[in-house]
Amino acid sequence: MTSPQETSPPLKVLHLGKDLLASNRQHAAANRARFQAAGVLVVNLLSAPGSGKTALLERTLSDLADRWPVAVITGDLQTDNDARRLAGRGAVIVPIATGTLCHLEASMIGRACEELDLTRLQLLFIENVGNLVCPASYDLGETRRIVLLSTTEGEDKPLKYPLAFKSADAVVITKTDLAEPAGFRREEARANVTAVAPQADIIELSARTGQGMQEFYLWLEAALVSRSAAAVHR
Ligand code: MG
Ligand code: ZN
Repeated sequence: MTSPQETSPPLKVLHLGKDLLASNRQHAAANRARFQAAGVLVVNLLSAPGSGKTALLERTLSDLADRWPVAVITGDLQTDNDARRLAGRGAVIVPIATGTLCHLEASMIGRACEELDLTRLQLLFIENVGNLVCPASYDLGETRRIVLLSTTEGEDKPLKYPLAFKSADAVVITKTDLAEPAGFRREEARANVTAVAPQADIIELSARTGQGMQEFYLWLEAALVSRSAAAVHR
């Protein structure tokens, strides 16, 4: 009698995830070099669906597009709804339909940049697919990463999705106008962000009322000034 281990060939394990991430890292490095050469600040926005990424961008473009040349790459599964919401505000919008893919990859950003004259831009936002899981693992070559947390979500989101929050340069708490009706426990949420992501600046705002937007713009301005110092913790 021989044991099954002796008769069957060894199983070949495919470490596909690792290979994909290694390839993504190469594309991200190429993007980053290109962004630095063009002197453009690239901000990658991550959040769960419905946290207010598009609303934040709508307000930001309306307020800033005539001050800084700005463009947005939007990643959406099926629709170009976000891109249409952002159009007509003085920014170039490049929509990416990811199909069934639940995150953006660096190679997609490289292709989308073919539609843009990077040297004429100061600021490029990337609105990632609404998902707090895998987008966290995909470096897009961005200069800064922002994770959004809305007051209508759980205060424990940072504890549930630590990878995303750990990679954030700033955490933006959105929909502060809804904090009270939602029963949002502000101190608890802030403590959870700080526990998981001590490196991240915390900005609270409402894109609807405008509260906190000036602080957000000052944060962007500071990032623009020091844009060559790309985040080194990724
Ligand atoms: Mg959106
Ligand atoms: Zn994904």
